[in-house]
Amino acid sequence: MACALGLGLVAAAGAAAARADTMPYTGEAYTDADFIHVRKFDAHVHANTADHDFLRVARQDGFEVLSINVDYPDFPPLNVQARIAHALQAADPAHFHFATTFSMKGFGGLGWTERTNRRIDAEIRKGALAVKVWKNIGMVEKDAAGHFIMLDDPGFDAVMAHLEARHIPLIAHQGEPKNCWLPLEAMTTENDRSYFRDHPEYHMYLHPEQPSYETLMAARDRFVAHHPHLTFVGAHMASLEWSVDALATFLDAYPNAVVDLAARMTQVQYQSNADYDKVREFFIKYQDRILYGTDLTEDPPSAAERAQNPPIEAGAFRHEADAFWRSDWTYLATAGVQHIDAIKADAKGLALPKPVIDKIYYANAKTVFKRIAP
Ligand SMILES: [Zn+2]
Repeated sequence: MACALGLGLVAAAGAAAARADTMPYTGEAYTDADFIHVRKFDAHVHANTADHDFLRVARQDGFEVLSINVDYPDFPPLNVQARIAHALQAADPAHFHFATTFSMKGFGGLGWTERTNRRIDAEIRKGALAVKVWKNIGMVEKDAAGHFIMLDDPGFDAVMAHLEARHIPLIAHQGEPKNCWLPLEAMTTENDRSYFRDHPEYHMYLHPEQPSYETLMAARDRFVAHHPHLTFVGAHMASLEWSVDALATFLDAYPNAVVDLAARMTQVQYQSNADYDKVREFFIKYQDRILYGTDLTEDPPSAAERAQNPPIEAGAFRHEADAFWRSDWTYLATAGVQHIDAIKADAKGLALPKPVIDKIYYANAKTVFKRIAP
């Protein structure tokens, strides 16, 4: 995956304490050395191969992971993703968890709802902790009349009512980073720029005939409002990664929503470089509504080169995951300064107080992804 690592992760020992007087929120912060000892949960990964590298690095670094199955054409087929998830969970249920998903094939047709609910129930019985919907809803799938199917389409209601009744959380990747609607040269991060350069089919700036960012966000908001008892996990900072103010407005409006940070940390760093205190205050104020997540993806060696997160050579994945997790830890938990390639700048860590880190890194995920009674 796009990576801003391998650069000196400088721990600024004592810096947090020195700055404490000037901070609106104080509290002791962790150090880089604490990384290995604190319980952590990565709420957004994709284990697309049944080798045990993901398990090894998770155990080594003290992480539990939630591997999310997703109806993404560059990932293995859904039944293969499910088999991999079942195998890894059986191998290490203490460290590996998974979320299931469903296919849009036949949506709106006879029996789709029943088939989908049956599939969800079968996966829950096998241990799935949540259900994922992807950006194909809103951006790819069309109805018989040729209109894009939005998440607030009434055709989803019976499935969503099923999830609500059973207290199954929905993880929703809706829309894209706002950069997707900008020309390449106007994007705020290199990881977005390189992704959309490689995937012009997903670069919405080039596709004005597609739904706008605002249209997608409005459909998502109507959906969340329409299902107030559904636990809604907005993947990728609910596609409001460009502004902690916009994200705060969303979280204030929808008490049933939380967000994960997957693949959007560089957007947070971009913002904290512009206004450090504002971003730090956001994390402290919404400490109960944020889940740590990365989008780390381990693909099989033969994965198509078009995969969203480029396949990583066998053996290199553990090193990559470890470096990625440590970089994020330095940023969120300590006041360390590190260079972030994706924003071509150094970023100073937020040094969030220990109790805040404990929630974002573990307790919130444990609250949201409770084991569901089969
Ligand atoms: Zn993902």
